[in-house]
Amino acid sequence: MNTLVMKFGGTSVGNSGAIRQAAEIVATQKKTWENLVVVVSAMSGVTDQLISSARLAAQGDREGMQQALQAVTARHQQTVNELIPSAQEREILLANIQQRLDELTTYCHSIHVLGEVTPRGMDVISSMGERMNAQIVAALLRSMAVPAQAVEASQCIVTDRTFQNAVPDMAASREKTQKVLLPLFHQGFVPVVTGFMGATPEGVITTLGRGGSDYSAAILADCLDAAEVWIWTDVDGVLSADPRLVANARPIPEISFAEVGELAYFGAKVLHPKTIRPVVARNMPLWVKNTFNPAFSGTRISQAAVHSGGMITAVTTIKHLSILTVEGRGMLGVPGIAARTFGAVARSGASVLMISQSSSEQSICMVIPSDHNQQVIDMIEEEMALELARGDIDRVWARDQVVIVTIIGSGMRETPGVSARVFGALGKAHINVIAIAQGSSEYSISLVVDQKDMAEAVRSIHAEIVEVE
Ligand code: ADP
Ligand code: ASP
Ligand code: MG
Repeated sequence: MNTLVMKFGGTSVGNSGAIRQAAEIVATQKKTWENLVVVVSAMSGVTDQLISSARLAAQGDREGMQQALQAVTARHQQTVNELIPSAQEREILLANIQQRLDELTTYCHSIHVLGEVTPRGMDVISSMGERMNAQIVAALLRSMAVPAQAVEASQCIVTDRTFQNAVPDMAASREKTQKVLLPLFHQGFVPVVTGFMGATPEGVITTLGRGGSDYSAAILADCLDAAEVWIWTDVDGVLSADPRLVANARPIPEISFAEVGELAYFGAKVLHPKTIRPVVARNMPLWVKNTFNPAFSGTRISQAAVHSGGMITAVTTIKHLSILTVEGRGMLGVPGIAARTFGAVARSGASVLMISQSSSEQSICMVIPSDHNQQVIDMIEEEMALELARGDIDRVWARDQVVIVTIIGSGMRETPGVSARVFGALGKAHINVIAIAQGSSEYSISLVVDQKDMAEAVRSIHAEIVEVE
């Protein structure tokens, strides 16, 4: 079977003009592919508005909650009115969307009464944007004579109960996805599936994490043995840096799964970090393309990408981090300190993004998200209470407002001197490097700099290395 899964991100379906553009792309591809699946995100900004309406409700701010809901309602109604020519179809669609909005209002009122929102409640609310948008996109396609049907991913993707960051059960998802989508294929329909959401085996709605619609597309592609996945977004593909930091970041024509995995993990927002998981084992090509420049080929991601460029592919950043240091001369040669430190961090629930230990063993440094700072310090202090009392460990402290800058490229493996060039570029820009780690994959080098130096660090590395190759 010749199946293509195409996902349209928030800005690609963010207003009536963009939705029309996306629908044109679907209509064109429908002519070439035997089966086509469309995965849609919520309109850009809607998921944020939904989350904020739930939070405002929990905080008792009824007026703020109503304003947020009103904004969501008006946006969807306007889009339907602009897009759907048939009065009858429009009425049906508006009624359908109104039903979702009424549900949403009921949930927010209950949250307001209870004064709290659970992760489970948040998933029902935050997935509403996708649910409304899938209806709109499917209706527009039908009005263009492309047979299409909206499908809620809770019918297809089965997950565990980790609300807000659910993990799919691939075997169960495969069974359900095929059961729901194959009959639609046979009838010639294009299923328009909600991104971002899934459901537990009992049918309770879950979400896959922010930006998770990319992952939804890859999961469905795996379940359907698709030939390819195309991620449509608002830039020309995977770029050599965040275009908001580096104006002349350039599109990367080809990149490997391994490299794009590092890139996504280290902050490039263009792909959700889990997206490659389902496709990598099958070596299923993944493309990132621009909805607003569809003639441009974009980026092809595959197992063995052929590089036309040099050794460095991209520079990325992660913000809102702290570097935490456990230091003390008494740590010298004492076995098990590192293991106990990281055990304590794990118990705090924080994920460690980077680790470095000085060779003198007088300190262990790790980079963690800033919002976990205090919990992590408390946990380590509790674990090391004895060592602290004895003075073997002097202190556990955090430096806030740091970022990780990561330089990624498979060509680095064979090329000596990359770090020298990176540090040369930073030195010239007078940027102080706080810590360094080289990824074991040798596809990347990560360094920590002060948040205020972030933009300059990325620009100088990009200018010195990426742009000259
Ligand atoms: P979508 O809504 O289509 O999923 P996202 O906003 O999640 O889009 O991701 C696309 C955005 O990611 C781009 O508009 C761009 O600003 C940002 N971005 C950050 N780093 C990169 C990168 N290396 N390559 C491409 N885009 C990047
Ligand atoms: N709408 C969801 C979000 O904003 C999922 C996505 O767009 O991928 O996080
Ligand atoms: Mg995204």
